[in-house]
Amino acid sequence: MKIRKFNIKQFIRQNVRQMKAYSSARDEFKEKAEVYIDANENPFENGINRYPDPYQKLVKQRLSEIKKVPSENILLGNGSDEVLDLIFRAFCEPKQDNIICTPPTYGMYKVLAGLNDIELRNAVLKEDFSLDVEAVLSQIDEQTKLIFLCSPNNPTGNLIPRSQVKEILEKSNCLVVIDEAYIDFSEGISWSLSLSDNPNLIVCQTLSKAWGMAAIRLGICYASQEIIEVLNKIKPPYNVNSLTQEKALELLKDEKGFYENLQLILVEKERMKLKLEQLSFVEKIYPSDANFWLIKVDNANKRYNQLLKKGIVVRNRTNEALCENCLRITIGTQLENEKLIEVLKEIE
Ligand SMILES: *Cc1c(COP(=O)(O)O)cnc(C)c1O
Repeated sequence: MKIRKFNIKQFIRQNVRQMKAYSSARDEFKEKAEVYIDANENPFENGINRYPDPYQKLVKQRLSEIKKVPSENILLGNGSDEVLDLIFRAFCEPKQDNIICTPPTYGMYKVLAGLNDIELRNAVLKEDFSLDVEAVLSQIDEQTKLIFLCSPNNPTGNLIPRSQVKEILEKSNCLVVIDEAYIDFSEGISWSLSLSDNPNLIVCQTLSKAWGMAAIRLGICYASQEIIEVLNKIKPPYNVNSLTQEKALELLKDEKGFYENLQLILVEKERMKLKLEQLSFVEKIYPSDANFWLIKVDNANKRYNQLLKKGIVVRNRTNEALCENCLRITIGTQLENEKLIEVLKEIE
């Protein structure tokens, strides 16, 4: 393996380097004015007749306070799925570059690789779902641009130890994307606090899970200012709409409520483990740092269908690598969880 010295310029696609970003009306005039007749908007006030802030300044300010990361190191997207797509389009040359991911993991990395015509290389996790660092490093070549690490991982639930992430950050000389969609449920420290030591680090989070805002679609990306600049250049100008920005600001005010709900979910999670353990067809409950349990059962397809008939949908992961006969069960409200246990006992 050839070690490249990390230089972000070498990672930016040539067309992206050369293109000029779209300059919106709000880009060209940022101060306060009395009359805005520059953007062909409808002047009649209805709460949503004006274009939203293209850089979501207020939301970033609030996130910056909560997450202890400067605003300049944050980019927001229409869900983290948009953030991931921007990362692909900024750094991967179609039909030429490759990326590495570590199945079983979140399905969007593969979908986006396919969509962007980028070769996908798999470094499958070890049998116990731990990261195979050697397998990741051995797949890297000159055309490897991105390595995706999901921590805590979906669907396996486990957090990747810091020492392993560190090793990949230091030895790979690729952009390393750490997807922390579930970080708030875990005791792990976010990698977003380690940006200054790691120029090749990109961290993704979302308001869709612990923050309970899946419907408004707000994904967060943390990276060096240089990386954020590239992503800002290629993002759709108004990618986060004003209803989303307003709702996020409103709900991000209530950090106390956030922690209370989080605590309830974590308590329910432990209670559910005790109940699931008692079922004869549950063969294994994998350790989880997230808001779900991955369980191995006697026959996942059969159990999945039995649950469906009783009106309960879980995620059947039996066709994923290393996940034969595994079901992923999200922690719901106490009432929902009770219903699940009741039905699981009925089909036992
Ligand atoms: C749920 C999830 C996301 C969230 O994506 P959004 O588009 O922000 O809703 C991202 N990554 C992983 C691993 C997830 O499980």
